[in-house]
Amino acid sequence: MKRKICIECQLPIQGRTDKRFCDDFCRNSYNNRLNSYQNNITRNINTILRKNRRIIERQFDTNKIIKIKRNELLMEGYNFTYHTHTMHSKEGQSYIFVYNYGYLELENDYILLVSQDAKEK
Ligand SMILES: [Zn+2]
Repeated sequence: MKRKICIECQLPIQGRTDKRFCDDFCRNSYNNRLNSYQNNITRNINTILRKNRRIIERQFDTNKIIKIKRNELLMEGYNFTYHTHTMHSKEGQSYIFVYNYGYLELENDYILLVSQDAKEK
């Protein structure tokens, strides 16, 4: 019979062979480590999203309609990898949103920033 090994402590498991851990202690420490890893990923992405949102929001302090160079957002620390959702206009354009703010990529590296709040008014 093949001996199974605990995936936490690597020691042989006694008894039933469908077990993955030798005891509750090993199961708990394994799951805790997995959860904190997943919490870290979530927290890091949330931080990036909030920062992205703040960067767009700042542009609206002075203007209602904002056309900005992609580079200007990058220089402020904007991360184009992360967003919350996309919306498609009737004209077939894809707006990329970070919570209530979004943008549309225009020609020549320009970006049009939009606020959902303003749209609804
Ligand atoms: Zn173990």
